Formats: sequence, structure tokens, C-alpha cells
Amino acid sequence: MDSVLDRLAGEFPSSPDVVRLKAALLFEGVQYDQCLAEAASWAFPNFMPHHLPPGEPSFQGQRVVQIPYLFRLPDDTQVRLRIKPQSPFRLSADPDSGQIVLYENDKVISPTSFEAREAWTDMLTADGTPMKATGLSQHGEMLVLNVAPGCEYFVVPSEEPGGKSKNLSCKFCLYGLPDKRMEPLGQELYVINMPEPTLDRVVEACAHTETNARQLYIVGGSMLDMAEEGRRFIQIAEHLARAGLTERYYVACGSGAIPKSAMKTLRDLGVRGACFNLEVWDPKQFARICPGKDQIVGRERWIESLEEAVDVFGVDNVMTAFVGGAELEGDGAFTDPQQALDSAIESGEYLIPRGIQAVYSLHWKMTGKNRGQEPIYTLDFFLKLNEALFEIRKREGLFTNPDFFSKRSAYMQLEPDYDAAFNGAIEAG
Ligand code: SF4
Repeated sequence: MDSVLDRLAGEFPSSPDVVRLKAALLFEGVQYDQCLAEAASWAFPNFMPHHLPPGEPSFQGQRVVQIPYLFRLPDDTQVRLRIKPQSPFRLSADPDSGQIVLYENDKVISPTSFEAREAWTDMLTADGTPMKATGLSQHGEMLVLNVAPGCEYFVVPSEEPGGKSKNLSCKFCLYGLPDKRMEPLGQELYVINMPEPTLDRVVEACAHTETNARQLYIVGGSMLDMAEEGRRFIQIAEHLARAGLTERYYVACGSGAIPKSAMKTLRDLGVRGACFNLEVWDPKQFARICPGKDQIVGRERWIESLEEAVDVFGVDNVMTAFVGGAELEGDGAFTDPQQALDSAIESGEYLIPRGIQAVYSLHWKMTGKNRGQEPIYTLDFFLKLNEALFEIRKREGLFTNPDFFSKRSAYMQLEPDYDAAFNGAIEAG
């Protein structure tokens, strides 16, 4: 049987072995094995349970089973786990030691494990709220704090009195829709400050002694006014600083573009990094896919604010994320993948020398039978893009900062993996 890993080794010899493996797992997934259901008792759980297909033995009498969310390979490489019945990858647990081993077809590739569920996720705050319902989530060593998930770009008020609001949300966005998640958090659209009890609860969860996290990334839905969004993030950062959490974690601001004055206040409160996501580089595609960001802030202002962030936080502390593949989907999309590749490389050529790291995650097809399962980019495209971006980082001597974004927080991106392998090899002489 053909080996994906052998083919990749032949065609992408300059990519490290473990990066090729991670990329292959992201695209090919892994076959279901009972060891996945067994690991669910301690692993960080997938959002979606797995429905066992006919013919697969039940697990503890159940046909719908929990499975882990993230692989953790022996060198701390983290990979999003997806089950695909046709995958060449499979798992098997050693009956004596319990060690889980990853195979490609019949060849042993690596021992593996999964990211664990941390103790805080089963705890309650002082007022009896489950800590996992406070707006805090975790993947690996990164905590993600989102107490204001509703995004105002979904409901931009009409300029006509009594007119209908417009939806200027980003085309790919499923998570910013203002919905019932806002209620328990007390978020109200067009209101800057979050209720104090909401912030007290999430701070209590972040302060739990057993998060085993190093990074704390503050995110939230966008506000229509950049200055107001800046003030909301300042309010959150004030609470974190008061609890000593800006000392304990590398805290980063994952807002939309905000004014430089707000960035300075955040920095003075102990926030160390910023990540204002551009999502798409090409100007026309940006306007098509991110109409809110384009019409409310503007692409040039967004980029300017990233450059201002470098002045405020320093070159190792600014990133912008891209939704790789969104530019190839829908009416008006690039028709040639080469255009998409050239445009993505251009983003790195522009941003990286200016101290802004361009980070690409995968966009998954949103229509069709396997929606949410198949990326738009091909595996080869993703590796070509990542090799090109790595070459720019190497040429410029500007790498992703592992304090900000590390192998154990990048479950669907490859940039920290390339950089860690390169810098690790240099350190090892
Ligand atoms: S700005 Fe962010 S939250 Fe709002 S629609 Fe775009 S991606 Fe979603």
C-alpha cells in the first residue's frame, strides 16, 4: 500500500519528519480504535462525540463515545484529532504497558498520547458556576479566554432609522454569531464593559493552580468601534493583572484592530503580545470574505494597527492569523490555487520583515457530505506554503515566539513546529 509519509519525505525533504507527520494527520485523520474511547476518561474531549459505525463493537454498551480532541506526540507536537475510516493511520494500545502506538498501514510510526483534561475543567467557582462555563477553554498549554463571544459585525445597525441591520460577518465564521452563549456571561451587544461577576468568575478559573498552561489568549467578538473594543480588552486585562495572572501567563490580546493608545495601556497592565487576525491577505478577497473588517476598520488601517502593535509589544510579540483556504471558496473566490499560494506567500513577505508573524490555519469545507471534515487546501499546498513562510522567517531571522505560540498550542498550524525544529537543531549544535 502507498505510504503518505514516504511520498511526503520524497517531495518535501526539507520539512522535518514530525512536521510532515503532523500535516499528514491533519489531512488524513486516523481510524477509530477502542483505545480512543478508553482515553476519553482522562483526555481533553472532542467537542463532537463519535458515532460507532455498524460492525464496530460497542464501547461499555454505548454506540456514541467520547474521544480525545488532540494528539500529543512524544516531542510535544500537538495535532487536532479527526476520525476518518479510510485513513492510512491507525492506533493500537499495547496490552501490557498501555502505550498507544501510531501506525501508518502496518508500519510503526511513533508512540503517542493525547492532551489531558486539566483539573480546573471539573471545578466550580465560588458561586457554583462550572469553571468550564466561565468563558475559558484550553488546548494544550494555551488558555483561551472569551467572555464576549457575540460579534457585532453580524448585526450592524442600519443607517436608515428603523432599517434592517446588516450582516457583515466574516464568511467562514461560525463562532461569533450573537446567541444564547452571551446570556450566562452577561454580554450585551454595543455595551463595552462586561459584568464584574463574569470577570471575577473567569479570573478565578484562570487562577486555578492546575491549569498547566503557559499562555493566556484573550479573544472575543468584534465591536463596531475600535476604541470601544480596546476598552473592553483593557477591562479584562485589569482583572487579570489584579490577580497576578499577567505575571503567571504570557497574556496576549486577540482582539480586532484597536487604537495604539489602548495597546499601550494593555502593555502597561502586563499584556505581552497581540494578534489581530487579518484572515485573508489579498485585498479583494479580504473585502469579499471579511466585509465587516473591510468596511468598518479597513484593510490598511488593520495592517497599520499590526505595525503599531510591533512598536508597542516588540517584534517577537505580534501575530496575525489567516484562515487558509477561505480565499478559494464561494462566489468570487480565486479560481487557481496558485494565485492563493502566491498571495499567502506575499503576506509573509510583507509582514514577517516588519516583525509580524503570519500564521495559517486550515479552513474546512462548509458544504457537502463531509462538511467540517475536509480542508480546502491540499496537503501538498499546505506544506508548500509552510515551507515558503519558514524560508522567509529563516532569511529574516524572525521566528514565532514559543512563549506566545508554541508546539503545544498550535494544533492546526505548522509555524511553531518548523521554528522549533530549526532552532532546536541549532541549539543542539
Ligand atoms: S470579526 Fe471575528 S468573530 Fe466577527 S465575524 Fe469575523 S471572525 Fe467572526
